[in-house]
Amino acid sequence: MKQIITTSFGQTQKVGFDFAKKLKGGEVLALYGDLGSGKTTFVQGLAAGLGIDRQIISPTFIIMRTYTADTQKSKRKVFYHVDLYRISNSDEVQSLGLLEFMGDPQTIVAIEWPDKIENLLPENRIDITFTYLEDDMRQIGID
Ligand code: ADP
Ligand code: MG
Repeated sequence: MKQIITTSFGQTQKVGFDFAKKLKGGEVLALYGDLGSGKTTFVQGLAAGLGIDRQIISPTFIIMRTYTADTQKSKRKVFYHVDLYRISNSDEVQSLGLLEFMGDPQTIVAIEWPDKIENLLPENRIDITFTYLEDDMRQIGID
C-alpha cells in the first residue's frame, strides 16, 4: 500500500496523470472515498495521462461516460468513467454492461462509489482510497 498526500487539486491530478502511464489495458480501478475527497479530480489527471483531451466532467447524474484512450502499450483503448453514487442497488448496474467490459484488455475502467457493487467487482482490480484530511489536503492510498 502506497500512501500519498496532496495539498492541491493539481497535485491530485498529477498523481492520476502519472498513474495512467502504468496502465496497459484491462485494469479496473475502484476509487473509494467520500464526496469531495478527490476521486473525480484524480480521474481528470488519469484521463489526461491516457491522452484524452476531452474534459472529464463528473458523471454523477448519468452514471457512465466513455472516452477513447491511449495506453503505453497501444492506442485506442476505451476508457469508462463510472460513478455509482446515484445507484441504489446492484441490479441497476447490470444494464450498464459493466460486467461485460470490466477486465477486457481493450478497456480501462475507473469506478467511483465501487462499494455499491462490491459483490460484482472483479477480484483482479486496483483499489484506490481517497481521504479528505483538511481544506486542500487529501490522502490517496493505492493498493
Ligand atoms: P469526488 O469525486 O471524490 O466527490 P472531486 O474530485 O469531485 O471529489 O472534488 C474534490 C474537490 O476538492 C474539488 O473541488 C477540488 O478542487 C477540491 N480539492 C482541494 N484540494 C484537493 C486535493 N488536494 N485533491 C483533490 N481535490 C482537492
Ligand atoms: Mg466524483
